Amino acid sequence: MRRAVVLGGSIAGLMAARVLSDHAEEVLIIERDPSEVDVGPRPGVPQGSQVHALLPAGQAQLERWFPGFAKEAFQAGAPLPTGGTGKVFLNGVLRTAPMSRPQVPGLITTRPFLEALVRKRTLAIGNITMVPGRADGLVFDGNRVAATRYVPDGGTEPVTVTTDLVVDAMGRSSRLGDWLDNSGWTRPPMRRMPIKLNYATALYKRDEQVSDAWVAVAQTTPGDGRVARIGGINSVENDQWIMLVAGYDNDRPTRDVEDFTNRCREHFPKAFRDIAEHGQRIGDVATYHQADSRRRDFHELDRLPAGLVAAGDSVASFNPIYGQGMTSAALHASCLSAYLRSDPALHEPARAYFDRVRVIVDAAWQISTFADLDLPHVDGPYPRGYRLIRWFTDLLFRASMTDGVINDRLARVTTMLDHPTALARPSTLWRAVRLRFLPWTSGSLPG
Ligand SMILES: Cc1cc2nc3c(=O)[nH]c(=O)nc-3n(C[C@H](O)[C@H](O)[C@H](O)COP(=O)(O)OP(=O)(O)OC[C@H]3O[C@@H](n4cnc5c(N)ncnc54)[C@H](O)[C@@H]3O)c2cc1C
Repeated sequence: MRRAVVLGGSIAGLMAARVLSDHAEEVLIIERDPSEVDVGPRPGVPQGSQVHALLPAGQAQLERWFPGFAKEAFQAGAPLPTGGTGKVFLNGVLRTAPMSRPQVPGLITTRPFLEALVRKRTLAIGNITMVPGRADGLVFDGNRVAATRYVPDGGTEPVTVTTDLVVDAMGRSSRLGDWLDNSGWTRPPMRRMPIKLNYATALYKRDEQVSDAWVAVAQTTPGDGRVARIGGINSVENDQWIMLVAGYDNDRPTRDVEDFTNRCREHFPKAFRDIAEHGQRIGDVATYHQADSRRRDFHELDRLPAGLVAAGDSVASFNPIYGQGMTSAALHASCLSAYLRSDPALHEPARAYFDRVRVIVDAAWQISTFADLDLPHVDGPYPRGYRLIRWFTDLLFRASMTDGVINDRLARVTTMLDHPTALARPSTLWRAVRLRFLPWTSGSLPG
């Protein structure tokens, strides 16, 4: 390709640009926020000050596209996990650790820190340029996208730039659907699950005297008089803890520090209380509300222009508590690479790309929306075979609390290293059944 244009320069856009740099003479990223490498929290990514966990599959993808990424992140100040391992509490009970330990230390950082590293590596590639401006529309030539329109930073008049391929990476509020609709195409059908999630996050100075917490996740599932909540503590760069308290529906944490401290004290394990009561807070409490999980099913479109793909949240954005967003965006970049390496006819719609992306979206959607069907205010849509899958999932979850092997297999799926179908292996099912119904035989289970 002579020129590829990426709309949006966040995680999905940067990863797509990295892939495109192997296939196009020139790659332009059009981004409406400032284009410096280290911009910190920015308006185009309003969720950026909230806790952002990078799943192991996402880290593997970053390493694939930017060899040495984790090492560079550690050198730049991401904490090396020497301070202990992660603890996961489910309804106040500490879950057993997974059997296998990760080979590579996990990266835990704030979102702006991670994004700055991805930007630095992406913009260091000679044929990639970030252009400050607001993407404004597409120009079609017959059945294909021929150009992109954008309004340069500080300007008022749109500029048109011709292109062989456009990537929509404008996030979950992307206006691509409107642009298609207004030009006689069809917008991709959207599926939503209303989750009404409420986040509040605060940073604290990490201090061993206050707590030895390294990473902790505490979740309360609804039922038996319990209210669904989730809290998290992450040790991040610059000797800080980033701490999250989240609720659903009318359970809304506020920006009030006392409210934040009370929630830590009343709803979560001791480490949360210790940090909130005795830790030194840095800055304000930041809140965020996400109304729904949503996906745009491009693969279902009968008519799709050639020269157009979409990646990241503009395709699907999930309940953030499962931490799938950035990893999905990175996996979409690998889908783009596989598509372009298959020597596709670029004058035809990129259906083979969207078919690959669908596998990633289906897997993440299955994990997050299935779990969210437990929430009292969520009433569907229910997948086919819901009751059976529910029964099986409950069995697995129960077993994972005490069995390292099952916990490991479950963790590989929830961290997107394995596809959810991996859990349907007979050996996993049989192990969970034995642990639940024939516990006296569990002594002979392989470790
Ligand atoms: C509260 C919360 C917590 C989260 N926690 C996690 C987590 O723990 N782990 C995880 O992996 N994910 C998490 N996510 C999801 C993660 O934030 C997204 O999945 C990820 O940012 C997707 O990246 P993206 O590049 O697709 O879109 P975005 O990051 O939303 O970026 C879109 C980009 O497009 C630009 N843009 C938009 N319109 C235009 C335009 N017209 N012209 C030019 N530029 C434009 C924006 O400025 C922005 O840079 C969380 C999300 C939320 C809401």
